[in-house]
Amino acid sequence: MELIKNISEIRELFPALKQSVNGKDLVYFDNGATAQKPISVIELINKMNSGLNGNIHRAVHELSARSTELYEEARSEIQTFLNAKEREEIVFTSGTTASINLVANSFCQKFLNKGDAIIITEAEHHSNIVPWQMACERSGAELRVLPVDDKGVWKLEKLPEILGSKVKIISVAHISNVLGIINPIKDLIGIAHKKGIPVLIDGAQGIVHTRVDVQELDCDFYVFSGHKIYGPTGTGVLYGKREILDKMPPWMGGGDMVGTVSFEKTTYAELPLKFEAGTPNFIGAAAFGEAVRFVQTIDNEFLKNHEDEMVNYLLEKLATIEGLKLYGLAPNKIPLFSFTVEGVHPTDLAMLMDKMGIALRSGQMCSEPLMTKYGVTGMLRASLAMYNTLEEAEYFIEYLRRSVKMLS
Ligand code: PMP
Repeated sequence: MELIKNISEIRELFPALKQSVNGKDLVYFDNGATAQKPISVIELINKMNSGLNGNIHRAVHELSARSTELYEEARSEIQTFLNAKEREEIVFTSGTTASINLVANSFCQKFLNKGDAIIITEAEHHSNIVPWQMACERSGAELRVLPVDDKGVWKLEKLPEILGSKVKIISVAHISNVLGIINPIKDLIGIAHKKGIPVLIDGAQGIVHTRVDVQELDCDFYVFSGHKIYGPTGTGVLYGKREILDKMPPWMGGGDMVGTVSFEKTTYAELPLKFEAGTPNFIGAAAFGEAVRFVQTIDNEFLKNHEDEMVNYLLEKLATIEGLKLYGLAPNKIPLFSFTVEGVHPTDLAMLMDKMGIALRSGQMCSEPLMTKYGVTGMLRASLAMYNTLEEAEYFIEYLRRSVKMLS
């Protein structure tokens, strides 16, 4: 199959991009929060909701069999996409947050005790802070935090100071949703593994902007959401190495995750169903698989060059706006830019930009500790996806310049 190497062709596949907002053509720069969906994903959801709908793994009837097939095909699609060794290592969840909570509950129930520790970094999303804090509260363990420097780069040299025999797991973002730089996760995994410590990678942003090979990375867990990689909301994946997942107890109990049930004793299903209690979002999961299929129809090199072009353009132009301070400045940057402008409230700026049809994110971005570190109460963020164009970036810069002038 011929891979797509053309932005107009990509844009044609996304109906949401064709709308106007506040009387202007939409410029959607809030992809770090959620991405728009290609027509193939939308069509599959519609097809399943309007007919191909039977609860999975349960009945012998045709609709159930076909839904099950689509659900399990999506699992295989995602296994191949991540280069996971086995399809049983792919657990469907409702998103990154649910995947992290699953590990923070199940893994920590088994392995985390009083006096142990968990390591995260200073630049995590609340989803990769709070579940671990809750696990520490339950067990009497300690949460240790690896700092980042002023540019947002991990201070890896500080890791030995906090890495002791009591550390049971390290959980870090592949790419921070605020800083937009690709973190040296492979280096960190190497250091952690020398001490026998497993590593969870929060790939909510990473999966969208890098090619992930979990065997090559050798991470123990990799988690992400469907909705940021052009799939539906309410879908996510927990990849885990089988040897660890096998040792972890189920977290939620219910239908589908059992072997046999009696009032005296219940046995549990094998992986991955052990972690998929209840009716999953099977239509969403099938569409998530479709999104992953879609992503692979785009030429990788073309996409990388396009992203680099956007990064270079926006870095250069943002630097020319007076009073603008950018957070997350390192060479391995993705097109995600968080910034503040002296004397201007980010929300006011975001509202003014919205009037021009430009969708941005403003506020703490679910990363309050990082805001505190940088001494701000909020930031403004522009985050781009594969379908955003240089013309949109030019329009964004022009109206950002004008809006800043109006507000300052
Ligand atoms: N981690 C990171 C780095 C994120 O960007 C996000 C979403 N903004 C999450 C975790 C949480 O993802 P979700 O809300 O889809 O569970």
